[in-house]
Order: sequence, then C-alpha cells, then structure tokens
Amino acid sequence: MLMTGAQYIESLRKLKTRVYMFGEKVDNWIDHPIIRPSINSVKMTYDLALDPECADLMTAKSNITGEIINRFNHLHQSTDDLRKKVKMQRLLGQKTASCFQRCVGMDAFNAEYSTTYEIDKKYGTEYHKRFEKYLKYVQDNDLTVDGAMTDPKGDRAKSPSQQEDPDLFVRIVEKREDGIVVRGAKAHQTGSINSHEHLVMPTISLTESDKAYAVSFAVPSDVDGLFMIYGRQSCDTRKMEEGADIDLGNKQYGGQEALVVFDDVFVPWERVFMCEEWDFAGMLVERFAGYHRQSYGGCKVGVGDVIIGAAALAADYNGANKASHIKDKLIEMTHLNETLYCCGIACSAEGYPTEAGNYQIDMLLANVCKQNVTRFPYEIVRLAEDIAGGLMVTMPSEKDFKSNLKVGRNGETIGDVCNKYFKGSPVTSTENRMRILRFIENVALGTAAVGYRTESLHGAGSPQAQRIMIARQGNIEGKKELAKKIAGIK
Ligand code: SF4
Ligand code: FE
Repeated sequence: MLMTGAQYIESLRKLKTRVYMFGEKVDNWIDHPIIRPSINSVKMTYDLALDPECADLMTAKSNITGEIINRFNHLHQSTDDLRKKVKMQRLLGQKTASCFQRCVGMDAFNAEYSTTYEIDKKYGTEYHKRFEKYLKYVQDNDLTVDGAMTDPKGDRAKSPSQQEDPDLFVRIVEKREDGIVVRGAKAHQTGSINSHEHLVMPTISLTESDKAYAVSFAVPSDVDGLFMIYGRQSCDTRKMEEGADIDLGNKQYGGQEALVVFDDVFVPWERVFMCEEWDFAGMLVERFAGYHRQSYGGCKVGVGDVIIGAAALAADYNGANKASHIKDKLIEMTHLNETLYCCGIACSAEGYPTEAGNYQIDMLLANVCKQNVTRFPYEIVRLAEDIAGGLMVTMPSEKDFKSNLKVGRNGETIGDVCNKYFKGSPVTSTENRMRILRFIENVALGTAAVGYRTESLHGAGSPQAQRIMIARQGNIEGKKELAKKIAGIK
C-alpha cells in the first residue's frame, strides 16, 4: 500500500533511531532544522507517487505481488522500467533541487535480487528466496530503505583483513544458530537517518582471506547497536538562524549523509543475503554501482534543470539577459545537462535481463554516464556562477536587507541602503534578485553542494572507479582487430 508523505513522516516518528550531531544526541531529529529539509526531499517521493499526473513514472506493478508500488521499491522488469526510473529521478531533481536519497535502496534491491539468485545457483543457498520475502515486506509497507555500501576503508593500500583495525570494513564477528553479529561502519550514507531500514552490502571485490567481510543483510534503522553521526554541510548552521529564509537558497529541501555505525548488531538468518561467499562480493558491488551510475543521469539532470533556470533568472534580474554571451552560456549549460540525460537514457535502453529476471543497465554506458557526471556539473556550476556575478558571494545577509536600524544622514535604514545599492533590473524586486543568487550559492558552495557539486564527483564511486570499469568493458582488443582489418594487417 502506498503511504502519503504525511504518513511517511509519522512512520519515522515511531522509530527510535539513534542520531548524533555536533557532539550531542538529537532526540527529535525529524523536526530538527538542519535535518528536516532532507526528510522533505524523501517525502516528495511519497507525495508524487499519489499524484495522478506522475503515477506513470512514480509507481509500477510489483512482479512479486501484482500490487501497485512506489517505483523506488520496484524490480525493473524491462528497459522501459529502466528509462522510467531515470525520468522519475529527473522529475524529483526538478522538484527538490537536491538529493532525494531513496535511490540507493532501489539500486540495492535490484543488485541484490540478481546476485542472490546467482549465489544460490552456485552454492545451493537460499538467499534469493529470503531476499524476495524481505522485499515483499518493504513493498507492502512502502518503506524507504538505505542501500549501504561504502566502508570507511582505512589504509587504501591494504585489503579489509590486512587493516590494523579490522573494523574499517563491515564484517561478521560471530555466527550463531539464529543469525550473525556484525561490526563496522558505513561512511557517507545518503538518506540513512530518514530510512526505515538499512540494506548493507560489501564495498569491494574480495578474496578468500577477506571472507568475513563478504556480508549482506538488512536491519531496521533503530536496531540495537546501530547509531548514526550526521555529516555536516557547508553553511548548515544558517538553518539554525532565527527566521532564516532567503539566505538558505533552498529552504525546503536538502540531502543528508551520515556515518552509520554497527556496534555489534545481531541479524537473524532470514535477513542475511550473503555470508562469506566472497567470490560474489564483486558482482554485487558492480551491479549496485552500475545502477547508481545510471541514477546520476537522472537526478543530477533534474537539479541541473533548476540551476539553468536560476542562471537565466539571474541574467534577467541583472539586466544582462540580452547579451549574446549569456545566451551562449545557457546553451552550453543545456547541452551539457542533456548530454548527461542522453547517457542515463542510453544505458537504460541498452539494458538486458539478468538470470533472475530483473533488468540490468548496460555497464559500459552507465560508467560513461557517471564519468561525465564527474565533470559536467562542475562546468554547469561554473557557468551559473559566471552569469550570477560576484554578488552571489559578497552580498549582505537577509537580516541586513530587513534591518530598520537607521544609518544614513537622512534616516535611511540598513535595509534601505541594501535595497538601493543592490537593485538590478526593474523587472523584479531586489529581494527576488537576492533569492536567486542565494539559490545558486547554495548549489555551488552551500548545503546543496554536497548533493550536486561534490557528490557528482564522488557519489556512486569516484572517477577512477568508473575508469576501471570503462577499461574492463571497453574491448580494446576487439577494437585493435577492427583497425587491423581495415589497415590490411595480417
Ligand atoms: Fe538518488 Fe541522486 Fe541522491 Fe543518489 S545522489 S540518492 S541517485 S538523488
Ligand atoms: Fe548520491
């Protein structure tokens, strides 16, 4: 059954999730001004699913139950489903101008579903059946699940078992009759605090000596022994300022990342989906990463749409919109943004069914998609900053604009002075000009930068991770043969 956005918020209130921020425990994290915007973003994934105009993109028919479910909990059944996923993400990026977080769960479900099938085929285990049962529970209750992959990793020159501190990758510390006990942490976990559940996967390909690290499982976010330390974002404390609005740039929406700690957490067998099958860790990682690299061809494009619109408005408000170089910059931004979208759609259109039956994206094209995402948003933001002008980072605060303190010879207030000197084109108010510049600042340098600028680089894997996959999938030997044939080389 689909939940409404309001029901989603209420469902979070029932959880006892342990959250820490700025060195203190946060009891009411749902209404906390720093955290709430990120919850609003996830709420949008519920609200839009109930909007008849968005239902085609936002919902799907479950292949497990035949019920209509939120697409974020769906197993892709066709290339059409894969394309709709990307379109849904673009739509949500447009609506929130931030990271709406629920995709990591969707990408984990699809990777788990096909990988558990193949583990069972080799080892006669029952992970696939268990996972399907778990996913049915998630679909029936319309839950948000955090797909958790990235370990802290410690010394990058060493494998998990070689680390001085063995906890730097999540591992099994005890196998019991009724389940396993796990210890470790997952770093920079998107949407972890406002997820009902965590679905944990290994983060790299493993060897036999690392088999204790070959573990995948699901736990409720408030399970005993689990806690989270909230990641801070640039300019985050602006949200704590009384009456803050304009200076936030994006008051309503945001993303969130946290360190998620598993301090000896017990997991019953029915929620364990990989236990020491080290030879399948790489498959799970590659499939999840592939899906998430496809995802970036949707979400970042939607946010890009808002940034392009903001840059165009800034040009209007500065009175510079007729200049040919401004028009050309907007064309360039659009070209870059749509190129990312082309990649997201292309890797979806070239998808194929896995042995388990759900659809996987084309790996090479998905990695090319994400590699472009590590670059183009930087250029898009650079052009937006160029069009916005330096005022974006030198402007007085909204409190100054609203101040009644008399400072001028003729009794002008600070607000009067700011409004006089920062007025732009007569097409709009000084306040609107401020609003659009603060929005661009937010995306480029503020709290949203984590979800657009820097996340474009590191989210879904840093650039080098894609280059390794591109090298593997690029078929240079096959291309050499093509050249030999044309050049007449025997
Ligand atoms: Fe979804 Fe994009 Fe956020 Fe990843 S970065 S969770 S794909 S919105
Ligand atoms: Fe991300």
